[in-house]
Amino acid sequence: MSEREHHGEKELASFIRAGAQRRPDQAYGDYFRGKSASCALGAAYEGMYRLPQKMDGAHPTRDLDWFFDCLEGTVRRCPVEGCKKRLVLSALIVHINDGHRWSREQIATWLESVNGKANGAATPAATPPLTP
Ligand SMILES: [Zn+2]
Repeated sequence: MSEREHHGEKELASFIRAGAQRRPDQAYGDYFRGKSASCALGAAYEGMYRLPQKMDGAHPTRDLDWFFDCLEGTVRRCPVEGCKKRLVLSALIVHINDGHRWSREQIATWLESVNGKANGAATPAATPPLTP
């Protein structure tokens, strides 16, 4: 898997926090709802792009996935005890948001901790080989 994922998850968490501050309510089943709600992935998207207030019903483009290689390229196990789901990160974030009703804050905290300890699979960020 690419080395970029290690960078991505931390940034993703900070975007979620930034987006969550802009919209105090959490949305389920939609990226955005009304003027004041977003789900974790919607918040990440907004934290990154600073969207206009009016996003009701709008669907983010695939830019977020493109930017965060890790969203599509990383498969994680659901951090919820007893849940056996394994999904690519973008789907997992939606799953945790909608299925387990974690707050965006909780999801951000999980993302920050995911490197190095969660799932027992992550390894410390490798230095990419520099070949001229
Ligand atoms: Zn789960």
